[in-house]
Amino acid sequence: MIGVSVLGSTGSIGVSTLDVVARNPDRYRVVALTANTDVDGLRQQCLRFRPQLAAMADEASAERLARSLQAEAPGIEVLGGEGGLLAAAEHPEAGQVMAAIVGAAGLMPTLAAVRRGKRILLANKEALVVSGALFMREAEAHGAEVLPIDSEHNAVFQCMPGNFREGLERVGVTRILLTASGGPFRERDPASLAAVTPEEACAHPNWDMGRKISVDSASMMNKGLEVIEARWLFDADPSRIQVVVHPQSVIHSLVEYADGSLLAQLGNPDMRTPIAHAMAWPERHASGVAPLDLFDIARLDFEPPDMQRFPCLQLAFEAVEAGGAAPAILNAANEVAVQYFLEHRLRFTDIPRVIAHTLESLAAGEPDSLDALLHLDREARVLAERFSATQV
Ligand code: NAD
Ligand code: MG
Repeated sequence: MIGVSVLGSTGSIGVSTLDVVARNPDRYRVVALTANTDVDGLRQQCLRFRPQLAAMADEASAERLARSLQAEAPGIEVLGGEGGLLAAAEHPEAGQVMAAIVGAAGLMPTLAAVRRGKRILLANKEALVVSGALFMREAEAHGAEVLPIDSEHNAVFQCMPGNFREGLERVGVTRILLTASGGPFRERDPASLAAVTPEEACAHPNWDMGRKISVDSASMMNKGLEVIEARWLFDADPSRIQVVVHPQSVIHSLVEYADGSLLAQLGNPDMRTPIAHAMAWPERHASGVAPLDLFDIARLDFEPPDMQRFPCLQLAFEAVEAGGAAPAILNAANEVAVQYFLEHRLRFTDIPRVIAHTLESLAAGEPDSLDALLHLDREARVLAERFSATQV
């Protein structure tokens, strides 16, 4: 039995993870669950999966959860605040830790799990965007396996040779091709984008996801973050990462080899496939996802990304090229801008303007420690908030 700790268990990825666990009860046991403020959601998961620990980032929510579990499940320890999240990440009985907290808030708990040498099921892409170099160094130093959950990176991982860590050039990999659906605004008149609502932005054509990543998909910042994520996961030069718009979301990404071969991973767009893959790796087991029916799909389309329509993607490419702290600043400004947009306080088309302004206002440099990165992250948020507040 493998003990699993799920950070962000009430979210879209968290719920899919627990579904995979429930389908494989002889293999996995849930040892810890965490959430931010969704007391009722976490309570129900606790009653069903009976973890040893339940943690809530929000202290008041943790107190409410503790009171409601007191009678029904007194054996479950309830903790609040960052300490609770860290305890879940470091749980001694967790062999695997699903990192599915959204945003830079997921960084510290995920790093804590890395430092305990756990198998990291990495959904939280922001951790790698903010601190990719440091994160991968720590993983190596502590022998933590980092297995990608993001569908594109999981696909790339599946198409890579087993020894890819020896260096992509050495193993004959020439390019990584990340597919992108293009989101809900791929064909929409660019002049109308200033007026789109959060609801329209969150209505993704193929994937059902949390609100932040849904907005990122609509702006294609999600693909930009994924380019940065791929750069670190596979130690790939950014010039070797190509974005391919593929509206059907059936090919989840591809790896190109020196001999002209292109390997792809295909499947129905359902996150339970990459989750089950990473949990079972190097074996395979059921995920609950129906097999792909090729006759049903009939055709697959591809086109290059439109950088004019999606300036966020361009900004992300520039940030990864600039290196150093630029991706961390980009990420912080984006988190602020997306939050403002979701609260109807910023236009969709202002998101890249907030990010560009923040990147221009801060000297990026080469922060060499986590403290320095977190300091920059906070500075970028303050600047991005100030600029956002002057927009509408
Ligand atoms: P979500 O919004 O549905 O869920 C987020 C989870 O994190 C919830 O459990 C929430 O309680 C918790 N959380 C939120 N803020 C927190 C905070 N400040 N402190 C502690 N916990 C907090 O998000 P999601 O769609 O499940 O995405 C989770 C992560 O996985 C993101 O980083 C996203 O980019 C990545 N990801 C998601 C998908 C997907 O299909 N949903 C695909 C690829 C990658
Ligand atoms: Mg993805």
